[in-house]
Amino acid sequence: MIKRFVKYYRPHLPLFFLDFGCAFLIALLDLIFPMVTRWTINSVLPDKNLNLLLMIGGGLLALYVARYILNYIVDYYGHVLGVRMEYHMRKDLFSHIQKLSFNFFDNTKTGHIMSRLVNDLNEISELAHHGPEDLFIATVTLLGSFLIMMTINWQLTLIVFAIIPIMLYFAISKNKRMQFAFKDMRLKIADINAQVEDSIAGVRVVKSFTNEWYEQEKFEKGNKNFRLSRENAFKVMAQFFSGIGFFSNLINLLVLFIGGLFIYYNRLTVGDLVGFLLYVSMFLQPIRRITALVENYQRGAAGFNRFLETLDINPDIVDSPDAVEIGRLNGNIEFSNVTFSYNNKGDVLKDINFKIDKGETVAFVGPSGAGKTTLCSLIPRFYEIDKGSLMIDGMDIRKMTQRSLRDNVGIVQQDVFLFSGTVRDNIAYGKVAATDQEIIEAARLANAHEFIMALENGYNTYIGERGVKLSGGQKQRISIARIFLKNPPVLILDEATSALDNETEKVIQESFVKLAKSRTTLVIAHRMATIRNVDRIMVLTEDGIIEEGNHSTLMDKEGVYARLYKAQFDDLVS
Ligand code: ADP
Ligand code: MG
Repeated sequence: MIKRFVKYYRPHLPLFFLDFGCAFLIALLDLIFPMVTRWTINSVLPDKNLNLLLMIGGGLLALYVARYILNYIVDYYGHVLGVRMEYHMRKDLFSHIQKLSFNFFDNTKTGHIMSRLVNDLNEISELAHHGPEDLFIATVTLLGSFLIMMTINWQLTLIVFAIIPIMLYFAISKNKRMQFAFKDMRLKIADINAQVEDSIAGVRVVKSFTNEWYEQEKFEKGNKNFRLSRENAFKVMAQFFSGIGFFSNLINLLVLFIGGLFIYYNRLTVGDLVGFLLYVSMFLQPIRRITALVENYQRGAAGFNRFLETLDINPDIVDSPDAVEIGRLNGNIEFSNVTFSYNNKGDVLKDINFKIDKGETVAFVGPSGAGKTTLCSLIPRFYEIDKGSLMIDGMDIRKMTQRSLRDNVGIVQQDVFLFSGTVRDNIAYGKVAATDQEIIEAARLANAHEFIMALENGYNTYIGERGVKLSGGQKQRISIARIFLKNPPVLILDEATSALDNETEKVIQESFVKLAKSRTTLVIAHRMATIRNVDRIMVLTEDGIIEEGNHSTLMDKEGVYARLYKAQFDDLVS
């Protein structure tokens, strides 16, 4: 783990050394001031040497200016170091996540990915620069003052340093409780966030059930828990800070008292005592630093572990080393003995065999859960088949690069996903470099041009988060335009009109006919009426493809298809 952490330091070594060099100098400078004070009181003042005093003043001023600059460098460039490391980690993580397969996304919560990309990396970055810096400064300060104090008066030094471990123990253990309290607080705020998101995303449901009061009650609970958690966190925090303050006062008192006794017995000068007190008053800082280090380390290490955990997940599907970049396919699809299960949890598809010729339109019908969507998602290789083979144009899809394969397949689904952005951006998603002309042409083919022109800013209209400002049919038309622009030889229509009303469905159906022309098309239809005219129909059930033929042959057969068809037709009539 350390090795991989260090890897992220490597590109920033100059910054790293700048930061730590300056931190070291600051610690040294801080050690000088009490020494100078002691010397001034012991030797300079009794001689009434004004010149020397002025020189000391000037020298100290120069040192303070230097310290100011060093401090600025440490604060600024230290953070820059952390931020740059964080930037690289985030970049690595996001690009890795982009490579992962559907299996990962099926089984991972979006919120977890988000917190890995944002919070965890933040904490790592804090540790990355404060960690070594804190350790370094604290060690130099404590060790340096210890050595210097030993030369002044070793008995007093040992007494003072005997207390430091007790103080550290107190600080670290209180800090641990503080961390727990803050962690609890973060969990509670996450609850609130989730709840707000839920209520607002589901506002239509909330209002239609007039359940605002219920949402409020749920919210009230979360809000109250958060309040209590914060109160507790502040309590522990107050204990921590006041406790630490008390300890350092005790040390001051001890030094003043015992040091006073030493002076009384002429074993210490006033200058020595003042120097001592000044060193002691500096202790608070290294102790805070060590405490912070322990905390940062625990958080950062946990975050970094989670970061590595995600980075170490391998994509389930990778291009084989000899994968071929294929050009435009014709679209002859062949499934041979294809067997597939999600995570080996029971076969969803078993021994599926069929062939679809280029340009043909084939419909799949069957009960929900039979595996129609699954079957289609095997074609762009979203999931890996367990047995058998899947060929397009006579070539196993596992021999093609995923990218070139997916460039050949277009999918239209029931729930359209539009990105936040303009209508144009969303259509252009099908071909990022498309010209305006091409985009308009695609929109026309999708019967979308008219309604887009009627929007307030035409193609430049922002469609709101996930296209909330558009109707279901409009969204679907944009997604169809996207596919026209992509222009793939293989097309999958997965219940693309199921969520639409009859009228809209008819319009969209027309676009589909246009879209399917000269492409190999797989249609999964919910309403059977929409697939009467396709070339071939396959009936998929848990037992595999049990019937195959065109509408009239299947009706004549009076099998499963005929039964499903009549059932739906009766529904419509009644
Ligand atoms: P259909 O499209 O015919 O309604 P699906 O292909 O969506 O059926 O689903 C087939 C079976 O696979 C169902 O039992 C479903 O629960 C399961 N399934 C679908 N998607 C996943 C997934 N991502 N992970 C695990 N199981 C899944
Ligand atoms: Mg489905």
